Parts: sequence; C-alpha cells; structure tokens
Amino acid sequence: MTETDREDATRFEVAVVGGGPAGLTAALYTTRLGHDTVVLDRGGGRAAMMLETHNVIGVTEDVSGNEYLQTAREQIQEYGATYRRDFVTGVERDGDGRFRVETNEDGYTADQVVLATGFSDARPDPPLPRTGRGLHYCLHCDAYMFVDEPVYVMGHGESAAHVAMIMLNFTDDVDLLLRGDEPTWSDDTDRQLRAHPVDVVDDELTGMNKREDGWLESFEFEDGSVREYTGGFAMYGADYNTDLAQGLGCDLTDSGTIDVDDHGRTNVDGVYAVGDVTPGHNQIPVAIGEGAKAGLAAHMELREFPRSLDEIDADGPVTEGDVPGISPAVREAARAFGTGDD
Ligand SMILES: Cc1cc2nc3c(=O)[nH]c(=O)nc-3n(C[C@H](O)[C@H](O)[C@H](O)COP(=O)(O)OP(=O)(O)OC[C@H]3O[C@@H](n4cnc5c(N)ncnc54)[C@H](O)[C@@H]3O)c2cc1C
Repeated sequence: MTETDREDATRFEVAVVGGGPAGLTAALYTTRLGHDTVVLDRGGGRAAMMLETHNVIGVTEDVSGNEYLQTAREQIQEYGATYRRDFVTGVERDGDGRFRVETNEDGYTADQVVLATGFSDARPDPPLPRTGRGLHYCLHCDAYMFVDEPVYVMGHGESAAHVAMIMLNFTDDVDLLLRGDEPTWSDDTDRQLRAHPVDVVDDELTGMNKREDGWLESFEFEDGSVREYTGGFAMYGADYNTDLAQGLGCDLTDSGTIDVDDHGRTNVDGVYAVGDVTPGHNQIPVAIGEGAKAGLAAHMELREFPRSLDEIDADGPVTEGDVPGISPAVREAARAFGTGDD
C-alpha cells in the first residue's frame, strides 16, 4: 500500500467512536447521506449484554444483543460504512481543524467525531445470578418480566431506594437488599421508603440458588434465612466512558454524562455525543433516535450543496463537474446496492 493509499484508507469525513445502537445509527445516517464514515468499536458494551431484546419495536424478544448488533454492523457496511474492531485511545484536533483519532491498531483523521462510548454498570460482588437470568440493570427493559413476582433491589443509595419503590408498580413483593452496607439515601427518601411496603434486608448474602433452567431461585443470608426471588436489579451506579470527551474539552453534566444539545452537539465544534453516555433514558430506541439526530446534524455541516450566495459570489456558480457531492466510495457502494435495478 502506498502512503497515499494508506492516507485514503484512514481519512474519513465522520469517525464514530463506539459501535452500540447509538453509534451504529449515527453511522447509518452519515453513510446513507453520502459521507465516508468509520465506526471504531472495542466491542462489548451494554447492548451486547442483552440476552433478549425488549422495547425495540419490530425486533422480537428472541433476538440477543449480539445478534442485533451483528445485523446492524452488516447493514451499515452494506451501505458503504467502514467498521473496525479497535479501541480509541485519544482524539485531538490537528493544525488544519480536522480530528486525529488514535487507536490501539492505527490512526485516523475525520472532519467530525461522534462519541457513542456508553457506560459500564458497576457490578456488585458475588454471589450473583447470571445477567438477564435474575440479575438485571435496566428497569425500563425488564420490570415487565417481574409482574406479580418476588423481586429484590440491591444497593444502598438513592437510586436503589427509588427503584425499590418503583417496582411496587409491578409487584407487591419487593425487598431492598443492603448487603451489610449503611444506607446513604437522604432522610426524606428514608421517610418515603418506610411509607411503602418494601422490606429492607440488612444482612450480607452468603449464597445463591438457581433453578434448573438457570434462573435465580433464592438468596441465602448471613442470619441463615433464605428468600426466594425471580429476579431483581443491582443499583450501584454507572462509570461513564468520558475520557475522550474530556480530552477534547467537552463539558460534562453534574451526573457525569456528556452535555449535549437536542442534536447531540457538544460545546466543541464538530464533536457530537449520543446514547447512554449522554443524559436521558438509557434505552435502545432512545439511543437510536439520538444517533439519527446527530447523524443528520453532521450531514448538514458536511454536505456540499446548496452553496451559499457568498460562496457563489466568491467562487462562481456550481458546474456539472462539481456534482454530485457524495463521496466516491459511498457513491460506489450505493450503486452496487442496486436500488431500482429490478
Ligand atoms: C443487561 C442489559 C439489558 C438491557 N436490555 C435492554 C433492552 O432489552 N431494551 C433496551 O431498549 N435497552 C436495553 N438495555 C439498555 C441498552 O443496552 C442501552 O441503552 C444501549 O445499548 C445504549 O447504546 P449505546 O450505543 O449508547 O451504548 P453501548 O451499547 O454500551 O455501546 C457502546 C460501545 O462503545 C464502545 N466503546 C466505548 N469506549 C470506546 C473506545 N474508547 N473505543 C472504541 N469503542 C469504545 C463499547 O465497547 C461499546 O461497543 C439493556 C442494558 C443492559 C446492561
């Protein structure tokens, strides 16, 4: 490969960091709107943890997170996007205003960057059932599974107390497991919690029993008691993947997410953030919507036409040789895609 070929292979209009639902959707939009787009993705992430998919209209329960993501990756590559399994170690603006994106394996340049890096749920200590089989992190996704079932919430902070009370909308049997920790929720929350039929259990867990199908059956406690649960939620906080955003000078919110406007624009020109790493509900349809809006906003910044009157006055009218404005690589992919061929 010549130096020019190498430069072409690593030069993009849009670099998306993170290949979950948010980043893949941003890439789908920027690609189908004509821009060379690369998705740089370490893999894993929250969507990959789903044993089943809930709340995504048109996607059935039996589709796992990994199956869902594989379909999405194939979809964007068919439209002409580039997907690389790689970890982004740094992003900075270079001298000519473009972004330099460093990864473990390579280096890329891009005009615009979309950060879709998500977060990691803090995982409690064992004994624990399998995630999705009695251990859950997403109330909006999984509360429906526990209607009229015995449920636990694990944790000792504000969010644990609130989720325990929220679960009373779905079942009358909710325990809040402190696991030997002192509660850190406020006095008002304490008063509120005590006024709801939630059983607060102080003791640490000593064991866990599973059913034959792998689902949680019960927890054993230090005092020798055994309590049966179908499942529950662990509420120990989130570790937002904001290192790259902070390196670029993006503002964060008080809760540690990346601060964005309604189209995913951060305070840094040309840098967008979407999905779980931004404020809002942590749900695939929301992440998809945010990815779509940021993809559209990036397109509006990048598209060639219409030229403004100032540009026409300075450079003359647009000629037939100037059009179409679509990138040659995406043009080739779109033609190969064959819309309207048969
Ligand atoms: C167990 C579980 C079950 C869930 N079930 C559902 C459900 O049924 N329905 C629903 O709507 N929602 C569900 N959710 C929530 C849903 O998964 C998230 O809201 C959604 O995945 C957010 O998408 P995202 O693209 O922002 O982040 P993610 O899906 O977390 O993707 C982020 C990606 O960024 C990558 N990344 C991070 N940093 C870097 C870097 N520096 N370089 C390269 N790549 C990087 C990660 O590796 C990952 O691939 C569930 C969550 C969990 C934890």
